[in-house]
Amino acid sequence: MSLENILGSNQKYRMTNQRQVILEEIQKVNTHPTADEVYEIVRRRLPRISLGTVYRNLEILSACGLIQKIGPISSQMRFDGITKNHYHLRCIYCGSVEDAPIDPMENLESAIREKSDYTIIGHKLEFIGICPKCKKRKSDS
Ligand SMILES: [Zn+2]
Ligand SMILES: [Zn+2]
Repeated sequence: MSLENILGSNQKYRMTNQRQVILEEIQKVNTHPTADEVYEIVRRRLPRISLGTVYRNLEILSACGLIQKIGPISSQMRFDGITKNHYHLRCIYCGSVEDAPIDPMENLESAIREKSDYTIIGHKLEFIGICPKCKKRKSDS
């Protein structure tokens, strides 16, 4: 779906109640939920909401810069309530995503600026590995 289809002719968006609830719930968790997971969470507060509405609002929220899309490196797009640059840890077994406990490296961007003609506006970094839960599960079996 193109951004234009999502935004329609009217580029200005009101923060509807549904959209506000979706945003609040994503900001509350640090699990980087998929659209299906957001739907399950939001349904507790808005039992009548449809999965399609959740999908559409996630697209709008990320087009507005209020949430960010991560992935899809695995099968499903995940969403993050934190929009300032930070790194992620992703488990290769269960696919869970956590925030990495280190600050973004500014010198990475100055390094690439020196070597490339691109105008660099940012960078994304993801660590992949095995989460503590999966490590434990593997050593238990
Ligand atoms: Zn895992
Ligand atoms: Zn994050």
